[in-house]
Amino acid sequence: MIPAPMHPVEIIGGGLAGLSLGLALRHHGAPVTLIEACAYPRHRVCGEFITGLAPSTIERLGLTPFFADALHHREVAWFRHDQPLRRQTLPLPALAISRHALDQRLASAFVSAGGDLRTQTRADLTAAPVGRIFATGRRPDRPEWIGLKCHALNLSLTAELELHLGDNAYVGLCAVEDGRVNVSGLFRQREGLVVSRETALLVYLRAVGLAALADRLASVAIDPDSFSAVAGLGFSKPYAQDDRLVIGDAYAMIPPFTGHGMAMAFQSAEQALDPLLAWSRGEVSWDAAVRTVQHRLRVLFRVRLASAAMLHPFLVKPSRQRWLATASRLRLLPIGPLYQATH
Ligand SMILES: Cc1cc2nc3c(=O)[nH]c(=O)nc-3n(C[C@H](O)[C@H](O)[C@H](O)COP(=O)(O)OP(=O)(O)OC[C@H]3O[C@@H](n4cnc5c(N)ncnc54)[C@H](O)[C@@H]3O)c2cc1C
Repeated sequence: MIPAPMHPVEIIGGGLAGLSLGLALRHHGAPVTLIEACAYPRHRVCGEFITGLAPSTIERLGLTPFFADALHHREVAWFRHDQPLRRQTLPLPALAISRHALDQRLASAFVSAGGDLRTQTRADLTAAPVGRIFATGRRPDRPEWIGLKCHALNLSLTAELELHLGDNAYVGLCAVEDGRVNVSGLFRQREGLVVSRETALLVYLRAVGLAALADRLASVAIDPDSFSAVAGLGFSKPYAQDDRLVIGDAYAMIPPFTGHGMAMAFQSAEQALDPLLAWSRGEVSWDAAVRTVQHRLRVLFRVRLASAAMLHPFLVKPSRQRWLATASRLRLLPIGPLYQATH
């Protein structure tokens, strides 16, 4: 008997959530159109290290080949105002790979798997027709936070990952493929700082008390195409309704210090996969599929989002950073439990 045709799925947003979901749906034969406002490859503001991504999620979504050359990092060195704070060993290695490579690989695989990819096309987000998934990334609502990044060439690190705390800012340094070091930071936007795309990161580093880090960066070559910026970052409450199927950062953005946003993008795609396949095969209604996915995401992400939101001010506010530094020096920080709570 010839199987009945499956209902087509439309995904808006070709970041990690949209691409990984689209690819997994294609592996199960569902027709998928993916609409992406930009083109590939491109650099994106991101720390480019992934913590808390289980091998089972990688396998379920068919992602193993894309991480073949990812680096594995466990050693983290923390600094505040350029002074060493403490060193930490992650319970599990973080995967390190550039978004330039990862997004491009996923997009190519999606097309090879028969997906219909429409790049440089911005979808109108006001309508939520049956079969449409929103993987559109962050919901801009707190314009005071900006993200900046670049790839440094030949920059030596004091640990596999460096995390630097400044005044209302933090910056991560992470070695990725091809001898590059990704430098990416979250900063509270400052009035009156005159910056260009190329100078923004150095200017902000100096302004937040990370002059030595700025000097290190100024002394090495930077890939000029890698300078990227993103504004309007916020860590608002999770998307709370069942009127749309929303995954990845569009569902909720966890503060970047966790290194866990990309894992959550993949995990939300994983949670959406079976309900969407059931809908596409005509086994459940669209409303039921949406309700199931949104409920699963609420249950899965609730504790880690709340824990990360609670910890975030300790990393950015100078008065709380001082408390953090003292607790750290006295070895009073329960690093292991804090890691578990945010993953
Ligand atoms: C400073 C900073 C550092 C970070 N560091 C890390 C880290 O080290 N580790 C980690 O795991 N996570 C990190 N993150 C978070 C991580 O980048 C995100 O969680 C992840 O990119 C979310 O993937 P996504 O697919 O949900 O969204 P995105 O990757 O943002 O993709 C959304 C896509 O939707 C497209 N889009 C939006 N609107 C439309 C439209 N109307 N029509 C068509 N297309 C549209 C956009 O162009 C975009 O490509 C960091 C974030 C920031 C800001």
